[in-house]
Amino acid sequence: MILIDGSFGEGGGQIIRTSLALSLVTGKAFRVERVRARRDPPGLKRQHLTAVNAAAAVGRAKVEGAGVGSQYFSFEPKDVVAGDYDFSIGTAGSTTLVLQTILPPLVIARGASLVTLEGGTHNVHAPPFDFLAKTFLPLVRRTGPKVEIDLIRYGFYPPGGGKLTVLIEPTGERKRLDITRRGEISRKLARALCVKLPPSVGERALSVVRERLGWDGEELRVETTANAVSPGFVLTLEMESGGLTELFTGVGERGVRAEDVAERAVAEVENYLASGAPVGEHLADQLLIPMALAGGGSYVTGEPSLHTTTNVEIIKKFLDVEITTERLSERQWKIEVSA
Ligand code: ATP
Repeated sequence: MILIDGSFGEGGGQIIRTSLALSLVTGKAFRVERVRARRDPPGLKRQHLTAVNAAAAVGRAKVEGAGVGSQYFSFEPKDVVAGDYDFSIGTAGSTTLVLQTILPPLVIARGASLVTLEGGTHNVHAPPFDFLAKTFLPLVRRTGPKVEIDLIRYGFYPPGGGKLTVLIEPTGERKRLDITRRGEISRKLARALCVKLPPSVGERALSVVRERLGWDGEELRVETTANAVSPGFVLTLEMESGGLTELFTGVGERGVRAEDVAERAVAEVENYLASGAPVGEHLADQLLIPMALAGGGSYVTGEPSLHTTTNVEIIKKFLDVEITTERLSERQWKIEVSA
């Protein structure tokens, strides 16, 4: 049984999700101690517990000790079974992070799966639906599997109530993925989505984008919808270059002005543009598993985050892969995954 120290590195929920995903991929059992030790309060939150339960369902696993607040548990998988699954978080916990847990085993399973997830679809500190649809999954598809995601209903903090479906079809193909140069930026789009809120909220956020990034005209778009149980505001800033779409997001929070949500997202874009690297901070920690499963790959990114360096170490505990990090210049690092 592999022993995982949940206080290692970033010491948060990602250690749990990566361990669950790769335990299912390899069939190796693990036990994790000091779960989310660097968070207050530590232990499993409901969202992480849903990930444990989802992984257990997909892999017919035996789980001991997992409950809300648990600071250790063990996970012993049997077989990964493709099929139809429906997981509900019950709160606004992130649906996309639950998907992050079960996608790796399902893309290499024997057969197709249809996964329905209910909860939050646009959360602070988690990949928003749009990031999966436009940035992450198109790259996963380039490594072999077919994956389609659809948003049925938006879900925001605090009630959640969002819903998305994911169709996963393994193809048996494993294609190496290399993203080492950023081409010229051929398309930019700032989309301010006002859910059960007036379009003026979006206009205010877009005025920050216009002022700080100089985007204008068709590059700025306000959209409104009432397709959610509670109001929400999302600003996505996307840039396409050489077949890659990077997307940075600001999610509205109660008491935070739309302008401030926009300022934060714009700062991420400025940082991305200044680095000159094709892969942004969040994509960098999420690409490691698909590349490892595809038999290898490489990418150039800005300074690796603690999420990335932590993920590297957890991946190496389960898979026989080499992952190297090389500093190329002041602002660029190359990460290479070799199986
Ligand atoms: P915690 O234990 O900190 O409560 P958690 O389980 O909620 O953690 P993290 O361990 O912080 O989550 O992992 C968050 C994941 O979401 C990381 O993979 C990160 O790259 C991703 N992420 C966060 N914000 C964004 C964003 N704006 N766009 C894309 N991905 C994001």
